[in-house]
Order: sequence, then structure tokens, then C-alpha cells
Amino acid sequence: MNPLHSALAQLDRAIIIRGISDELRSRIEKPEREIVASIPVEMDDGSARIFEGYRVQHSSLRGPYKGGIRYHADTNLDEVRALALWMTIKCAVADIPMGGAKGGVTVDPRTISQGERERLSRGWVRSLYPLLGPDSDIPAPDVNTNPETMGWMSDEYEKLTSDTRNAAFTGKALDRGGSEGRSAATGVGGFFVFEALRSLMGLPEKVAIAIQGVGNVGVGAAEAFHAHGHRVVALSDSRGGVYAEKGLDPAAVSAYKKETGSLKWYPDAEAISNDDLLRLECDVLVPAALENQITADTVSGVRAKVVLELANGPTTPEADDALLARAVHVIPDILGNSGGVVVSSYEWEQNLKGEHWSEDDVLGKLRTLLEREGRGVWDRAKRLKTDMRRAAFTIALERLQEALDAKKTH
Ligand code: NAD
Repeated sequence: MNPLHSALAQLDRAIIIRGISDELRSRIEKPEREIVASIPVEMDDGSARIFEGYRVQHSSLRGPYKGGIRYHADTNLDEVRALALWMTIKCAVADIPMGGAKGGVTVDPRTISQGERERLSRGWVRSLYPLLGPDSDIPAPDVNTNPETMGWMSDEYEKLTSDTRNAAFTGKALDRGGSEGRSAATGVGGFFVFEALRSLMGLPEKVAIAIQGVGNVGVGAAEAFHAHGHRVVALSDSRGGVYAEKGLDPAAVSAYKKETGSLKWYPDAEAISNDDLLRLECDVLVPAALENQITADTVSGVRAKVVLELANGPTTPEADDALLARAVHVIPDILGNSGGVVVSSYEWEQNLKGEHWSEDDVLGKLRTLLEREGRGVWDRAKRLKTDMRRAAFTIALERLQEALDAKKTH
């Protein structure tokens, strides 16, 4: 299942509902620019290895390119193209002044040392820096990259360009110019969207929730739900997960994973596979790992009432149709996980203005924005009698069309 096929199918389905101009269509079906770079890295044993790195700059219609950088063994150009297209749509759904991009490197980060990871990250910047910058393209973390990676990258960028504004990368650590609230923003943002829509979706005040993925996003979401009295009944990583009907303490599960490297023997919980997790009877299923988890093959087993997508592209279009037919609400990735890029845009703004906002200010602004845009997507879906993914796409397409029309009148 090629994620680019899913992304383009989603786009087509929205265009059928909400026509757009031929020019906009051709501008967003293909990225504005794609770069594939061969990145030489000196390995610890003194040998040189060449890694393949990518940056896909999908659309700058609404602002500078924005999107994360992923390190994964399966990362390839089509995956990065899909993720870049989703970024353009996501920034338009959130109505922030950003375009869409994505980057990556084909590498299994578990097979390289910390020093090699640092040299690879600096090498990625050396290959691409003329195309990056606070006014043109602002990367952020994604799967297997984190504040430390952004620190190396932003330091390398500053050395190469002498640009000291510190605004070319977001998702940096707090002591390197990062924003309060950024590390948990994607998961917490998903919680804010969920809370804004919970009663509209017919769910009770307190829900049972299963989360696939215990990375930055999954743990951030688990902690937000847990802190507000919801029951996190299952969590998993790439090798399997744990289930406890009475609920898990996400901070304890995450600490256990960090200490032992696995969830397998976590006490007072039942070991489950990732397939078991998708099939759990619960109120909310949260895919927070990778693409293509809820597919034509797995969708019939999904028993949750709501799917809150925090990963990008976890549900294929065929599975979307099956869920819609069963009246299972799907909060789509382009809305559900937009908290990350929204707070990244706040980080960029703080860096450019030389300000530092409090966590309350950052999360307060985020909550207001996501409640407004979340309800907007819900209302649009009701009006069009369709799912929230198509509805969110139609809103994004209208905003992109407005940006294109405005460019023409100037
Ligand atoms: P991460 O590297 O911190 O964590 C990924 C997690 O997924 C890990 O726990 C890993 O074990 C697990 N995983 C990997 N393969 C799996 C599989 N086959 N089954 C179950 N679990 C698996 O990454 P992250 O930053 O938390 O990103 C997770 C998802 O959220 C990605 O789809 C990413 O694109 C998306 N996302 C991230 C951000 C962000 O700010 N980091 C923002 C928006 C969207």
C-alpha cells in the first residue's frame, strides 16, 4: 500500500465534492520541488557510507514550506511525497500561514551510533541548506527524530549560513530556543480536538482508549487522556503491546519501555499483539505509529466507536469507506495531529520575534484554534453528509484556492 496512492485518492474524493480550479489541481497533485540527496557520513570505524535523504517541498501557496524529517528503514520518496501533501492540507485545515513539506532519510536508526546519527543529521543539512530557512522551509521532528536532532540541524544551519535567528528548525529543546508545550503538542492537540467533538460523536464523559505507538505522539496523547480521567486500556510499540481493562499509567509504561527497551513483561497487564490492539473493544482507537494500519484487511476487526488518527495516513481509503458505512467516526490525521505543526508555527513566531511564551499561553492558543477548526470540520461533514476527512479536505482546498486567487490579483 503506497501512501501516495492513499493521499491522492483522498484528494480526488474531496475534489469530487468540492470542485477546484484546474490550476490548483495541477499545483497540488504534484510537489513544487523534490530533492534526493546522497549524504556521505563518516562511520565510527572510519569507513564512509552514503545515505539517501529527501526533502519534498509540496506547496508554498499559503506560506513557507513546513514539515518534519523522518528516519526509517522503509522511508522512500513516495512516502515523503504523501507526507508532504498531507502537510499542505493540514496547515490549511489549521489555518496557519504555512505551506507543506516533508523530509526523510532511509535508515534504521537502531543500526547506527549516536555519533553517526549526529553526523548524518548535520550531513542532511549540508546537502539541503540553500533551500531551507525561516522564510522558505522550516523542518521539524517526525518518526525517530527529536529535539536533539533538531538541535544538531539548527546548529549546522547556523554555521553554514550565519543566520542567528534560530527559526529555521522547530521542535528544538527548550534550552535551544524551543517552545513550551511543543514536545507534547501533537498528542495534547489530539486530545483537544477529541474533547471538542466527544459529545457530538455520542461518547460518554469518560472513555476507554487504546493507543498504538508509544513514541512522542502516542505517549503525549496517553498522558493527556489519563490526566483528564479517561482510561488508557492499551499501548503498543513496533513489537507488541500491553492491555489492562482497569487502565494503564502511561508515564509508568513509557518509563518501563525506556528502561527495558520493551513493553513485553510490563507488570499487571496482558501482553497483546498490534493486531489484537486494533481489534479491542473500546470507545476510541488511536493509531499513533505509522501509515497503513487500518486497511481493507484489518478494518472488519475494528470495534472502537471512534478512530482518532494521530499517525499520518494510518487508514486507507477502502477502510475509510467501511468505517463510514458502519458509522464509526474517524477524526482524520490532517485535523487530529495538527497540534504539532501549530505549536511549531508558534515556536517559529517566537524565535522571529525574540519572545518566549508560557506553556499556558501556548496550550491556550492551541486549544482555542483546535476547538474552532475541529467544530468547523464537524459542521462541514454534517452539512455535506460525508466523513470528517472529506470535509477537512474541502475546507483546506477552499483556503488554498483563496491563496491562489489572491496571488493572481496582486
Ligand atoms: P516516534 O518515533 O517518537 O514513535 C513511533 C512509535 O511507533 C514508536 O513507539 C514505535 O515503536 C511505534 N511503531 C513503529 N512501528 C510500529 C508498528 N508497526 N506497530 C506499532 N507501533 C509501531 O514517532 P512520533 O513522532 O511519535 O510519530 C508517530 C506518528 O505521528 C507518525 O505517523 C508521525 O508522522 C506522526 N506525527 C508526528 C508528529 C510529531 O510532532 N512528532 C506530528 C504529527 C504527526
